[in-house]
Amino acid sequence: MAGEPQDDCLFCKIVAGHVPATIVRETDTTVAFRDINPQAPTHVLVIPKVHYENAAELAAGDPAVAADILREAQAVADEDKLESYRIVFNTGSGAGQTVWHAHAHVIGGRGLQWPPG
Ligand code: 5GP
Ligand code: ZN
Repeated sequence: MAGEPQDDCLFCKIVAGHVPATIVRETDTTVAFRDINPQAPTHVLVIPKVHYENAAELAAGDPAVAADILREAQAVADEDKLESYRIVFNTGSGAGQTVWHAHAHVIGGRGLQWPPG
């Protein structure tokens, strides 16, 4: 069920502490940790503790937590002193989503091209 932890979900396991991660921030509703395969000097994933498949499902089901994700993304950027950065929610396999637990990529610390590939 949406919002409930999923046994087979990697990010639910990180939330539960069953899979290690380099956690940089944690709140009552969110966890932020460094991506295992960073694409930039700062590449942090901000996730809700509740399980939703993607950002749109999260926004529909728990809008306050969706707002928390954006606030925490800004906090990550502040901590890493990023003047410019990008927040990305890959949504759907055609857009590169590989983990089906909503997550924001916070990417910065180098020049970023627009549009992305
Ligand atoms: P997506 O492709 O779904 O938008 O993003 C998933 C991200 O999760 C990828 O950037 C990938 O490198 C990252 N990732 C996958 N497995 C792990 C893991 O076990 N630990 C961490 N920290 N990141 C992971
Ligand atoms: Zn999950």
